Amino acid sequence: MGNGSESKVFVVGWPIDHSRSPIIHNYWIEQHGLKGSYERQACPPEDFERFLASMEGAGFIGGNVTIPHKEAAFRGVGWCDGTAQALGAVNTLWLDGGQICGSNTDGYGFLANLDDLAPGWSSVENLDRGALVIGAGGASRAVVHALVERGFKTVVIANRTLERAQQLAENFGPACLATGLADALDRLPAPAFVVNTTSLGMGKNVELPIDVSGLPEDTLVHDIVYTPLVTPLLGAARKSGLRTVDGLGMLLHQAVPGFERWFGIRPEVTAELRALVLAGTKDAP
Ligand code: NAP
Repeated sequence: MGNGSESKVFVVGWPIDHSRSPIIHNYWIEQHGLKGSYERQACPPEDFERFLASMEGAGFIGGNVTIPHKEAAFRGVGWCDGTAQALGAVNTLWLDGGQICGSNTDGYGFLANLDDLAPGWSSVENLDRGALVIGAGGASRAVVHALVERGFKTVVIANRTLERAQQLAENFGPACLATGLADALDRLPAPAFVVNTTSLGMGKNVELPIDVSGLPEDTLVHDIVYTPLVTPLLGAARKSGLRTVDGLGMLLHQAVPGFERWFGIRPEVTAELRALVLAGTKDAP
């Protein structure tokens, strides 16, 4: 945590221009009247190790790590918590006695958003019914881990490349089953929860990852893609009368633990912050 002097925090990635994290953290810094700054740091992969080593000397107390450095950050920290170890990826860094420490807050953000906007979504009955996760990339790892930790008895992972889904399922234990996209709903016909973690639906990509029209009427459909806010999947789910949650809140909530760690204040995800970040995503690719 910072003392009387200004606390400098970064988000590092390559590219980094479109990161919305500065909007979130600078909003909270201002809201709480703190002496601090949160800035973008562009860093190509070949320079990342050097960037980490220079973090303290450059006056930073911590930072966020985004694509493509989350795995390199995991390898580069002196200590990381159990979640980062389970995911093999770090998105939040801080210094403790000169040692670089790391955590991964993506799964926390995913759960906190759903707890906030869809209370009861992981009731005992829904844990028994199971969840369908579409996609098996980096974000899916955090989502599958979070669902298993929350207690879902069955987590079906459906991916275009079956091998990646199989690897993920092997990693996260017997609750997880791997399948291709076409078979997703055959493996779990009445899921309590469906989430898209692929980039399908992002920008001009309008393809639907699965057909939601036959899902039970109480299935909750979530998309972690938030550009656009209402993806084709969420649009189709709403048309079928299903409850939906968009992905913006995951981005906002995953920022909370880092801010608390750096500044010693637990910030709130408010409607005002959501509107601010939404306005900042208008020009996003
Ligand atoms: P990633 O590691 O590159 O994984 C991409 C996933 O999308 C893979 O499962 C890939 O399948 C699938 N995919 C891509 N193109 C496809 C296509 N044409 N047809 C079928 N499947 C396709 O990416 P990521 O880091 O997991 O991110 C995925 C999305 O989540 C991005 O849109 C990102 O913005 C979003 N995200 C949101 C948040 C949030 O806070 N809301 C956080 C993290 C990520 P294959 O394995 O077959 O290639």
